Amino acid sequence: MKYKELKKKDNVIEMNFDKPLSEETYQDFLKSIRKLRFLCRKKVNLHITLNHKDIDIDKEKDQRIINLYHIEKAINIKEKKKRYEYIYDVVCNYLDSCFQGKNLCEFKNNKCLGDRSKKFEKSCGCCNGKNRGTCKYLVDGHCTIQCMGCKLFTCPSLRKKGIKFRIKDIPLLNYFFNLRQKEVLAYTIFTPKEKVIERLIKFRW
Ligand code: SF4
Ligand code: SF4
Repeated sequence: MKYKELKKKDNVIEMNFDKPLSEETYQDFLKSIRKLRFLCRKKVNLHITLNHKDIDIDKEKDQRIINLYHIEKAINIKEKKKRYEYIYDVVCNYLDSCFQGKNLCEFKNNKCLGDRSKKFEKSCGCCNGKNRGTCKYLVDGHCTIQCMGCKLFTCPSLRKKGIKFRIKDIPLLNYFFNLRQKEVLAYTIFTPKEKVIERLIKFRW
């Protein structure tokens, strides 16, 4: 597919991808996201298909194809606040599935890897800062809000194992937010989703 030749018909831009998806095609698509956002900024919608069929998100296992699906959805949400909320929820769910699904923090008897490491100077995982005390949103050992900054955080114990989540590796964050908004997403911790979204709106283009 030649992205320079993208054409719209009846206010829809159709893009079909072959499965299995080649890495080259996927990377080309990522590079085209800003252009697609521009082309679809008003009434135009994007429609992505895989082998000429809609993506079956419930069955899909390839994270790159899952990304295509959510990028299409995000581009088609024209209202900024609703788009930000959608991206925020999708990325938080993705991070939860990585951390909890793979037990990246290696919880044993309610103690995480960072907690067991003497080098990490916090007494209770990452919800208890040295100068902050315990986060008020930690109730019965569970976080009661959705805070993306906390979810993106990896302590030195995890980073030593090569585990880190960078905004530039998450297309929904890398291609939909400006630099200031990315700082908000990465560094606003101990804060509920609604407040983070307010800040994203404040710093929008
Ligand atoms: S990021 Fe580190 S400190 Fe935080 S819960 Fe995971 S292992 Fe523990
Ligand atoms: S907001 Fe952050 S620091 Fe507070 S409980 Fe949730 S994950 Fe922990």
